[in-house]
Amino acid sequence: MPSPQSQRTASERREALKEVFAQAKECTRCPELAATRKTVVFGSGNADADLMFVGEAPGASEDEQGVPFVGRAGKLLETLLGEVGLQRTDVFIANTLKCRPPGNRDPLPIEIDNCQEYLQKQVELIQPTVICTLGNFSTKLLRGDPTGITRLHGQPEVLTLGRRAVRLYPIFHPAAALYTPRMLQTLREDFARLPELLAMGAPEQPPQEAPEPAPETAAQAESAARPDTGEPVERPAREDAAASRGERPAEADQLGLF
Ligand code: URA
Repeated sequence: MPSPQSQRTASERREALKEVFAQAKECTRCPELAATRKTVVFGSGNADADLMFVGEAPGASEDEQGVPFVGRAGKLLETLLGEVGLQRTDVFIANTLKCRPPGNRDPLPIEIDNCQEYLQKQVELIQPTVICTLGNFSTKLLRGDPTGITRLHGQPEVLTLGRRAVRLYPIFHPAAALYTPRMLQTLREDFARLPELLAMGAPEQPPQEAPEPAPETAAQAESAARPDTGEPVERPAREDAAASRGERPAEADQLGLF
């Protein structure tokens, strides 16, 4: 049985995330989207990020390139990140839907429902402390409530998603701010609070299930299975020490940017 996410190292969580990515690439739960997409836009960025963004759905450029937020809204997102001292590679960027709705129509409720498992797994495995929802679709989905972004933007709240408590921070979708200077100003002001939210760290976590007993090491398993011949036991090659403690350099955690 795999250990709970909270006990996995960053590199184990990243590997598990890649498996979810591989599953999503084959997904046909939404027949229309599966038939019309060019790529599945799973998400990109630091797989061990403290800050995760969740947008709506890929558009034409994202569908072409397989990377979220690479069009005009994405350029604005990058600019706003830069203004608070962050880069794309510091954060993880995902969407509510992993496939482009044809003609950029709104995601359908059934599509959001079909796709939400991938987002849940992303949250579980990346373990962000702050999730910034961009616009109505991701805000309503993660809050499980129909209240709209106009009322909620800029107001962080602690929310339990799966087994983890996160700081949810709804803000306007950058695409909405592209043509409306007042909305851009509001978005900029809301963005400016991100460093303060990140500095607060993770909120208090709900009680976790009891840790599993430590698995026996390969050498222990081997000596239990074999009569002791006195010969040295061959050990499998080990990951380097930092990686096995989950201390990977940020660039090694980049996902979807290849
Ligand atoms: N808008 C989104 O919501 N997501 C993208 O990836 C691009 C534009």
